[in-house]
Amino acid sequence: MPLRPLFLLAALLLAPALNAQVLSFSFDDGFDPRVQPEAAEWNARILRALEAEGIKAALFPAGRFVDSIEGLALVRAWGEAGHTIGNHTDSHTDIDTLTLDAFLADVERGDRLFRAMPRFKPRLRFPYLREGATADQRDGVRAWLARNGYAPAPISIMTGDGYYSQRLVEGLRAQPGRDTEPFRRAYVKHIVERAAHAERLARDTLGRSPAHVMLLHTNRANAMYLPDVIAALRAQGWKFVDADTAFADPLYRMTSKGLPAGSNIVVELARDAGRTPPRPPEDDYGKATLDALGY
Ligand SMILES: [Zn+2]
Repeated sequence: MPLRPLFLLAALLLAPALNAQVLSFSFDDGFDPRVQPEAAEWNARILRALEAEGIKAALFPAGRFVDSIEGLALVRAWGEAGHTIGNHTDSHTDIDTLTLDAFLADVERGDRLFRAMPRFKPRLRFPYLREGATADQRDGVRAWLARNGYAPAPISIMTGDGYYSQRLVEGLRAQPGRDTEPFRRAYVKHIVERAAHAERLARDTLGRSPAHVMLLHTNRANAMYLPDVIAALRAQGWKFVDADTAFADPLYRMTSKGLPAGSNIVVELARDAGRTPPRPPEDDYGKATLDALGY
């Protein structure tokens, strides 16, 4: 069998590349021009930051935020720029507060809203990442996904970007024109530390470094600081892959047995294995840090 040693040699030579830290950005929700006057500007800033760095990401919009002519135009811009568009439901309601039928009807309304978008991919990002508190709910959605050619869109890096951004908006409202440099430094550090934590947890849990999927949102913090976040992640050795590449990692076809279902897939798998995953840095999403900064 002369092929076998050759194959092993190739595998050894490829191993360092396979162990590189790679991640894909996913952005949830979509901007709402009806309540965010800066929606178009912030959307364009995020798209420019991704374009400038040659990064292709995924957007998971929810109808609740984007179902207006202006809002859907902002979603479309993501597809036209080469990012994938998925489904984050129509009303963005927690499955745990709905019957299975009502949740699936919400998913189907989201599908009708986004299916015609450029680069639409039938992937479901669950609102609040919750996939069902009971086995019936969880398995009912999984059966619907399989029947309809859909895949779930789990994440492996959880961040507090939504909370950070909310504090930034409030801080600037209270004190317009204030120095945002301390906020910027804290935010970038938060994202970099969350990524490093997720990588350690993945290596401990899976025994390897997967293609990570980071959960971010379309918000002001990312509109302002995405270029800094990208630069800081690159400085830590992270490389970026597009959403299709990341979701092709076998990690995202694994399912947890745990209930309630849904959260970070690596955390769920660690719990399935009987481990208690260590708490991530800034487990309060950055509240103490931002309190200290006066935001
Ligand atoms: Zn959401």
